[in-house]
Amino acid sequence: MSDATERWKERYEMVVGLEVHVHLKTATKIFCRCSTDFGAAPNVNTCPICLALPGALPVLNEKAVELASRAALALGCTLNKVSVFARKNYFYPDLPKGYQISQFDQPLASNGKLVIDLGGVHSAVDQFVALNRLGLTNGQSYPLDFFGAERHRTQSNFRIQTNIQLQPVQPPSVTSAFD
Ligand SMILES: [Zn+2]
Repeated sequence: MSDATERWKERYEMVVGLEVHVHLKTATKIFCRCSTDFGAAPNVNTCPICLALPGALPVLNEKAVELASRAALALGCTLNKVSVFARKNYFYPDLPKGYQISQFDQPLASNGKLVIDLGGVHSAVDQFVALNRLGLTNGQSYPLDFFGAERHRTQSNFRIQTNIQLQPVQPPSVTSAFD
């Protein structure tokens, strides 16, 4: 290990929290009836809701709530009796409609953990990753040529813009590369 690395380790402690996105296996998107078919051509399977056209109102996919609830229970989370979605307004190349509907302070479920079987390699006991909230959100579109030759121009694929994502969020608790 270099001297610079040693000095860095003396001055700083690594503390990392992770937000992980998991796609739920549903036939339709989270807020409309468009297909989630993977591999379809760009910008098909869209509707006024996906495209955020004026007056379009999202309707929550019941199957998404069911699958997310099952995942939450498997992770030892508490299902919350009140769960709230919020509209987060921002523009980004992968979100040209200008907002995302997600959960933050009142998510679907809270306080679970993912147990990791280390087989006694690092520790005599299983390690676990704490999860402080688990919410639902819509996925973004993705840039088609963001890394292509025409870097001055980005085209978005709206097809996946409202696919369903499960968002387990871990508190800042990772303190080493092994963790
Ligand atoms: Zn749609």
